Amino acid sequence: MVELTVTVTNSLGLHARAAAQLVRTANRFQSSVRLERIDGSARADAKSILSVLMLAASRGTALRAVAEGDDEQEAIAALSSVFEDGFKEVSERKHQVAAEPREMKWTGLGVSEGLVLGRVLKLHNGTRHVYRAHIEDADSERELKRFRAAARLARRQLLAIKARAEEQLGKDHAYIFDAHLLFLEDQKLSNEIENYITREHSNAEWAVKVVGDRLLSVYAEIKDDYLRERGSDIEDVIQRVLVALSGERPQYRNLSEDAVIVAEDLLPSAVAELDLQHARAIATDAGGWTSHTAIIARGLGISAIVGLGDLYQHARTGDEIVVDSFKGEVVLHPSSATIEKYRAEAARLAETRATEPAKEYGSVRTQDGMEIILRANVEFPAEFEGVRRFGAQGIGLYRSEFLLARPGVMLSEEEQYKAYSEVAKLAGANGAFVRLFDLGGDKVGDSLIESERNPALGLRAIRFGLTHESVMRTQVRAIMRAAAKGRLDIVLPMIADVGDVSRAQKIISEERSKLEREQKERGSVRIGAMIEVPSAVLTAEKIARTVEFFQLGTNDLVQYLLAVDRSNDKVADWFRSLHPAVLQSIARTLGAAREANIPAIVCGEMASTPAYSVLLVGLGATDLSMTPSSIPRVRRVLAGIDSRDASSIAAQCLQCETADEVEDLVREQFKSRWPDLFTPRSLPARRS
Ligand code: PEP
Ligand code: MG
Repeated sequence: MVELTVTVTNSLGLHARAAAQLVRTANRFQSSVRLERIDGSARADAKSILSVLMLAASRGTALRAVAEGDDEQEAIAALSSVFEDGFKEVSERKHQVAAEPREMKWTGLGVSEGLVLGRVLKLHNGTRHVYRAHIEDADSERELKRFRAAARLARRQLLAIKARAEEQLGKDHAYIFDAHLLFLEDQKLSNEIENYITREHSNAEWAVKVVGDRLLSVYAEIKDDYLRERGSDIEDVIQRVLVALSGERPQYRNLSEDAVIVAEDLLPSAVAELDLQHARAIATDAGGWTSHTAIIARGLGISAIVGLGDLYQHARTGDEIVVDSFKGEVVLHPSSATIEKYRAEAARLAETRATEPAKEYGSVRTQDGMEIILRANVEFPAEFEGVRRFGAQGIGLYRSEFLLARPGVMLSEEEQYKAYSEVAKLAGANGAFVRLFDLGGDKVGDSLIESERNPALGLRAIRFGLTHESVMRTQVRAIMRAAAKGRLDIVLPMIADVGDVSRAQKIISEERSKLEREQKERGSVRIGAMIEVPSAVLTAEKIARTVEFFQLGTNDLVQYLLAVDRSNDKVADWFRSLHPAVLQSIARTLGAAREANIPAIVCGEMASTPAYSVLLVGLGATDLSMTPSSIPRVRRVLAGIDSRDASSIAAQCLQCETADEVEDLVREQFKSRWPDLFTPRSLPARRS
């Protein structure tokens, strides 16, 4: 064994380039070579770049180099000269060092309440790389092979990139790819991943992600800014391997650890693929109040801000971040003073807003005795728990298309039958309103639909079903069969007129007869129409005569009535739920249902907002369906109002000319009539 004390003399310390040189040198020898801080606080295998970087050795750090083996003398000599040369450092820091992470702020649209301090987990487009699967022993070998093949592919890509960079930019600039290559070839990394696959019965993607995240979180702790930045290189390598693995597109779920998910745009299909139970918040560059990401975040009760512009570009996995959706604020790299401030705020909020299970269940009565039914909107099994917890009277809207979140996968009748049976069981005596697949638009299942120039106006919802009859027939059969297990009704989405209804009814009735002929057990289902496009509102009286209930989808109603893309943050200012045209359409639809003596459930996001729910009651609604966690707040507000007051305010709103006018009126009237029920924050914000 030979030992030598060396000192890091170059100005950048043992950063990626220097570490790469060191590792390449150590790997030329058979002997083992290790480096230790003199105070014994850290030691590293000099043949592993990950290990060497973890020494976080900056300029002036003294290290003990120890070599052991046949060529130990030569190894130490070579290492010593590398140190003496100062790693032939060029003035790279000037160009490469990222600016000191300083606090950066973004303002967006808070779409789901919560104040969270956490660490960024960046999700790349589609997030298809983060999955969890339980792999049987027999299949572990296959996963190991997949990982090795992906690593080989990533290596080939990096070699090509490095060669190109050397040619085009010169050796000095291509070194970073050398570091990437070393990360990839690092035995420590691959051993950890392979061990994880075998020990945890994990699929390769998940193992890569977990090991990579772990490594990144260690890097995030490094004090030296420059070295900490190298975490992003590891992130790049991890992503490269994940992309290489994704050729097979496995469909597994789960998210690594508690995290603040930062993405450019979290597509519903991506959200659906993840088990977001462990996510603490979502922050996206794009999105609007009724985008499905927002709806789901509210459903899961996690904080979310959308429309942040370019947060994604600046954030790195592992960065500290604050998400305050009450103010619509995101702070990246918060200073200690900022962290302190938000911690105090979070503690104060936790005291005042403990989400206890509901103490009351079922419908609510206003002060003058009007009964209002409160139901739950549900997309995922993860939200099922909330249905009971928050005291919902069954499921007012089951967005069945989320069953098809896995790209390109259509479920069989049996699979759907199982899913709907579970929903029926969960919903209990009050039943569940199962909406036929609402595919297209900004919804899930886009891989089942050919791309369209204008998907919101394209082959969406019932149009998809009527065009792909076999898909609709399978779903209808599954629902009718599951209805034998509990009360289920069928909702036809995005009905334009009576014509759509009768075509759908014909298919349903044919499938009903077929089930009868096949002597398959089935339950009776009612058929209702979703009223959410202007033509349906204008012909609501006619549609009401042909169906057994209405569902009023205010999200799409606002979108189509005001011609505002519900997912586009650029036009979020035009998305005005309290626009007089929207209120008139709601009043008209509710009136048509009343005339025809059929129930009408209002199930858009308006019902989830306490102030809006009062207006809905004022417009004649008696049946509301919403995000489960909103039920207690809506219940408290409705129990405190007199429906006659709500009607009189609603009548005045209907006379207004603009959304601004309606909002002014609501603020003023609600504040003076119900000062204890509404804080300024719970009323529509004043627009500048
Ligand atoms: C709506 O449009 O209001 C609705 C309830 O359905 P979705 O948000 O799923 O389109
Ligand atoms: Mg809709």
